[in-house]
Amino acid sequence: MVRDLARLPKAHLHVHLEGAMRPSTLADLAAAAGVAVPTVRGYASFSEFGLQYRAASALITTEDDLRRVVREVVDDAADDGALWVEPHFYPPRYVGQLGSSDEVLQIAIDEGQRAAAARGIGCGIMVSALREFDPAEAVELAKLAARYAGTGVVSFGLAADEALYPPEPFAEAFAVARDAGLISAPHAGELAGPASVYGALDALGAQRICHGIRAIEDPALVDRLATDEIVLDVCPTSNVMLAVVPSFDEHPLVRLLDAGVRCTLNGDDPLLFGPGLLGEYELARTTLGLSDERLAQLARWSLAGSGAPAELVTDGVARIEEWLTAAP
Ligand SMILES: [Zn+2]
Repeated sequence: MVRDLARLPKAHLHVHLEGAMRPSTLADLAAAAGVAVPTVRGYASFSEFGLQYRAASALITTEDDLRRVVREVVDDAADDGALWVEPHFYPPRYVGQLGSSDEVLQIAIDEGQRAAAARGIGCGIMVSALREFDPAEAVELAKLAARYAGTGVVSFGLAADEALYPPEPFAEAFAVARDAGLISAPHAGELAGPASVYGALDALGAQRICHGIRAIEDPALVDRLATDEIVLDVCPTSNVMLAVVPSFDEHPLVRLLDAGVRCTLNGDDPLLFGPGLLGEYELARTTLGLSDERLAQLARWSLAGSGAPAELVTDGVARIEEWLTAAP
């Protein structure tokens, strides 16, 4: 007998809204648009992956489409045992078509909270800037996110190709977000090495880092992450699929944990990579050899590092202890 990982309380922190769309929903949206279902596998590079992501996103054209995707992402998290989900969302993608940036964000917040309440869990939005655009746009996005701090937005992120666009120009945007009480959670240490992680810490005040795994290349940086209790929101399958690491066997998750770095497990873009939140926990057990004690620790860190209300975290951590002490 083994413990059921679906029953392990956890949070899903590193999940991009459109990248977590169900394949069946993608097919429905393509059929409604009268177009072929976009390819969402077999990318040869990060830029090709980005094109596939945008092709899938482009099929979301109505408020109902957006609400459906938000609702299903929350439902899928709940099915995987999440008590909290924090979808990453870039509102400008829908501005014009679905209203102003405030109106677009309000749709995501409203549907996320509605769907989460229906499942007895919580949902907070991460407004995520894209680094290929002008840092001035990120400042505006941070101001938008700040207006909803405490009422639906909990964190501020930065995604897209970090190898081409380092973090430092986005310092002002992250200062605005942090001043509003939002968690700073940029991507770093995935497509770029330790310098990007230092930049995320020093310029953006990162409290959580999406990926961050290439910190392993710099022992002093690993020590700093451990000492400062920075959380790395790790996505092993994404790292293998995008050739950030050559194989699961060579994934640095266990070495980061051994060094005392707080890590969480996440799906990133399940539409493009395959496994969702639960799938990543199962892979971490079967492929990376993580014990139930260690998986429970990752789950604890995911709740503690999230934007969830304190009572949800306290309750979730107590339920993790129950999961761990119950006989498998
Ligand atoms: Zn990501």
